[in-house]
Amino acid sequence: MRSTKDFRFKCTRCGNCCTDKNTIVNVTYSDILRIKKGLNLLLNETIEILGFYTYNKEPAAEDRKKMVISPIRTEKGLAFVGLLKEDSGACNFYDEINVKCKIYNLRPNFCRTFPFTFKIFFNKADRSKAKIKMGYAEKGDQYCPGISADMPLINEEQWIQLGKKTIEDLNDNNIFIEKWNDAVRIGQITPTVRNLLLTIFNLDKK
Ligand code: SF4
Ligand code: SF4
Repeated sequence: MRSTKDFRFKCTRCGNCCTDKNTIVNVTYSDILRIKKGLNLLLNETIEILGFYTYNKEPAAEDRKKMVISPIRTEKGLAFVGLLKEDSGACNFYDEINVKCKIYNLRPNFCRTFPFTFKIFFNKADRSKAKIKMGYAEKGDQYCPGISADMPLINEEQWIQLGKKTIEDLNDNNIFIEKWNDAVRIGQITPTVRNLLLTIFNLDKK
């Protein structure tokens, strides 16, 4: 994460972040619920908008602990859950003709926070006094033309608030994944996509 004091950014709607082949559009369970409800999707229709991106070789447990989003155990092995992509690499919800997101108001937090990344630093003496630090995401530096010295300064406070919300959402999601992975490990759950979504839908009823 490259950090600076003066963050400058304005989206040029180039579409790079929505069409990059090597970018997974990660979703948390709350993103899935928001999109499902917003589009009024049934179970099978929700399955159809998701992609499960598995590893060729599973990472070691130690490396998994350092990941911002924990991979989830599926029938095909550990995977990241993201929005489905076209063969071209474009997100399934990207409207290439009108160069815009088809689900802008429902889009995942991952999309909302791009091209920034956020980290939380806890005060050792008092954990309630945590500080959020932001920086340009690596991929933002790589291909986002909206990051430029010619662009306006951002409203940092607004972005920090978004980052805080996103970190809370990621933490909730990682707790959910940890519980799911444990339940799979002890044979309590069969890790099908259908079961995963039913479990997520049930969270909404609590
Ligand atoms: S890469 Fe940057 S400028 Fe291009 S659409 Fe994404 S956020 Fe906007
Ligand atoms: S959900 Fe929308 S903003 Fe996010 S990658 Fe897909 S098209 Fe882009």
